[in-house]
Amino acid sequence: MDAYDGFLVDFDGVVWLGREPVPGSPEALATMLAAGKEVVFVTNNPTKRPAEYAERLRGMGVEVGPERIVTAGITVARLAAEAAGPGGSALVLGFEPLRELIAGEGLRLVDFEAPTEADVVVVSGWREFSYMSLLAAKQALDAGAALVATSHDPTMPMPGGEWPGTGAILAAVEICSGKVAEIGGKPERHLFELALSRIPAAKRVAMVGDRISSDIAGGHAAGLDTILVLSGTTGSDGGSEDQAAMAVKPDLTVANLAALVA
Ligand SMILES: [Mg+2]
Repeated sequence: MDAYDGFLVDFDGVVWLGREPVPGSPEALATMLAAGKEVVFVTNNPTKRPAEYAERLRGMGVEVGPERIVTAGITVARLAAEAAGPGGSALVLGFEPLRELIAGEGLRLVDFEAPTEADVVVVSGWREFSYMSLLAAKQALDAGAALVATSHDPTMPMPGGEWPGTGAILAAVEICSGKVAEIGGKPERHLFELALSRIPAAKRVAMVGDRISSDIAGGHAAGLDTILVLSGTTGSDGGSEDQAAMAVKPDLTVANLAALVA
């Protein structure tokens, strides 16, 4: 911990698994904050608003403002607005907080019954995903809409094993449309740039995450040191990571966040 004055910290698989805190992580974060470390949470998961995440952290004894939480929802909404252009419209495969962010960028949200009105299709992890929403996305894309997504993370770490992630849904959309999405979240640069802009005074910043293909590869590409925790997706066996992803080496590997402050 002493080697850095700032940390970008992933949520899923690092701070918590589903609704369960990773043991020791809340205390470790409180220790980092008490030591004056600049912390920004960086998540590819836009299913909650930053203020809701801040509230959840507060319930664990971790006090940060919502400005210290950035989600791929924020960056993908910006990409969607750029792709659609002024007065554009979006078909959103995602939950309400993501829909709000996209509407907040000035885009009109298109109904699933009228997909060809969309200028852009936005894909994220969504438990209501269905064949009919896949069909709507394909029809929008066939009619010329652009494609953006929060991530291509194949899975989401959960207690008892991984669940399908955004990347699983995105793969279905990409394979039936022949289009390739632009990504708003990790490992692309947008979310890292947004996070670093929130802690301009931090000079030595490390990215802490559990997925090599997004957290570690993205942190490395952003010029940061990278710290892999084994409490989430990657684990000691690589989890759902493929061989190409496993070729990217973190600067440090620890069992969990608690080990970083021990
Ligand atoms: Mg994670």
